[in-house]
Amino acid sequence: MNSFHTEKEQTLLGVGASPGIVIGRALMIRVDGPARKINLRDTDVAAEQDRFRQAVNRTEENLRHTRQEFAAVIAEHITIIDSHILMLRDGMLFDRTLEIIEKEKVNAEWALEQSLSRIKEIFSKVNDSYIRERFLDVRQVAEQIFTELAGTDKFPHEIDEKVILVSRDFSPADILHMQGLSGFISEGGGETSHSAIVARTLGIPAVVGLKDVTRQVGNGDLLILDGITGRVIINPQPELIEQYRERQRQYLSYSKDIARFALFRPETLDGLSVRVQANIELVEEVSQALEYGACGIGLFRSEYLYLKENGLPDEEMLFEAYRNLLSHAAPLPVTIRALDIGGDKHFPVQQEELSGRFHEKSSRYSEANPALGLRAIRYLLHEPSVFVTQLRAMLRASTFGELRILFPLISAYCELEKVKKMVSEVQESLRNEGIPFSENVQFGVMIEVPSAVALADNLAHEVDFFSIGTNDLIQYALAIDRSNEHVAHMYESLHPAVLRMIRHVAEAGHRAGIEVGICGEMAGNTMYLPILLGLGLDFFSMHPLAIPYVKRMIRNSTAEELEELAEDLLVYPSASQIRNHLQEYLFSHYPEEFPRL
Ligand code: PEP
Ligand code: MG
Repeated sequence: MNSFHTEKEQTLLGVGASPGIVIGRALMIRVDGPARKINLRDTDVAAEQDRFRQAVNRTEENLRHTRQEFAAVIAEHITIIDSHILMLRDGMLFDRTLEIIEKEKVNAEWALEQSLSRIKEIFSKVNDSYIRERFLDVRQVAEQIFTELAGTDKFPHEIDEKVILVSRDFSPADILHMQGLSGFISEGGGETSHSAIVARTLGIPAVVGLKDVTRQVGNGDLLILDGITGRVIINPQPELIEQYRERQRQYLSYSKDIARFALFRPETLDGLSVRVQANIELVEEVSQALEYGACGIGLFRSEYLYLKENGLPDEEMLFEAYRNLLSHAAPLPVTIRALDIGGDKHFPVQQEELSGRFHEKSSRYSEANPALGLRAIRYLLHEPSVFVTQLRAMLRASTFGELRILFPLISAYCELEKVKKMVSEVQESLRNEGIPFSENVQFGVMIEVPSAVALADNLAHEVDFFSIGTNDLIQYALAIDRSNEHVAHMYESLHPAVLRMIRHVAEAGHRAGIEVGICGEMAGNTMYLPILLGLGLDFFSMHPLAIPYVKRMIRNSTAEELEELAEDLLVYPSASQIRNHLQEYLFSHYPEEFPRL
């Protein structure tokens, strides 16, 4: 138990990353201090190097095992595990640690810690947030080696049903390993972090972004974890435990009832029909999306095909994938987003040269502000051959279903003009080559940059639909790096500026007679649904598992009432006022989804 531990009831507020309520005992994970230095005798150096190699081998085995075990369940996260496997043998980590053991005659833990400090120093000097973020990956990989060096399992194999794991951070692989786990809380992470997404996929309640929680909670403390509101209560009093037990029962019976809503039409009580669609990253996810009741694929993030192969995918490879995707989903529509590479998504190192993002000096394309850099449509216009290849593949596949093409990160009118010109040229050359494609493909832009919001009226006349990407719109509107944990608490979906932007885009789109929907994480969060419905959005695209929850809520809503609610909420100047009013509304109108304590 640590010195900050207290028996008094204490409530902490973090980010509800995965819904559900757990009442259980805290199990602290991996909160040890830095490694201790041990000087070795000459004769022990080789054995120590061997101990390190074996720890790396075991870590690799574990990662490969995780990869294999969960490939089917959570395929989109395999790339993260693959990159962790590659990092294990990185020269700066692996060779350098062996070298330090040999030269300084020290234990492997100490040597590894030194390698890590060096890597951190190098990364931080570049002053590049993308590289800083990659250091967290290196740290996660190293922590797994530390665990193996310690010769203990980081997580107990058989976790008691009532155990809540508490740690500074969990990697997605950690969470995949926690079978039988009731819930977890961590200091790091935000609503859109990978660990949060994995937790939601596996249905493990979680609260993240709880600063200093590892110092406030002691091993064995009784905890209440409320993944719906983001609350964690340490040492709750008996009356509160009883209230939460009741809430837990209500939530469980509500969750059990949810599956059947996949089959229902998303229509409000007063007859307004909207479309509820799925966000996916892999062709294989289409079946799951349909099973959960998606009325189509609202966002196919096409990056994955560019990340997994050695070399950029060619037209045939892309065509095959898109054809499968479209025929699988037919007759339902599929929205393929043009490649959104850059920012926090990047090509593997070996592809940087092929991609035209090769930087002579650094052997990797490097940017001081990648989120503001050569990302998405900017990259595609900069590398037209990559864009043309993808456009050709998409258009060729268009005869196999109903295709919509979405252009990400549009920030200027002239950008859209250039894109449309390229599309026309590709269509023209396909015609000349006698290659069939559908003339009914719809084109849309993602509204995720404030300048696109301001230009919505003009852009609306040039496309068939708008899809609002709130993940980025919030980051760019509020100047909050969506993957920087230090400002994660300021990433506020209910910020009045964000909501007013959504209203502006919806109105501009509707004035021009086009559809306006949303495909950011907000769309799948039932807390935000009433306001988004009230703002008049036509489609909502989200993680497939969220679909039945959202459909159920739509069916319990009255569109006219929500319009009034949205009007009332948008008058407030602050997010906290909006949140309080909205919460009251949720408690009184959706008591099963949001039981009042
Ligand atoms: C968004 O920005 O809201 C979005 C859906 O795109 P991504 O999360 O892939 O940037
Ligand atoms: Mg985006």
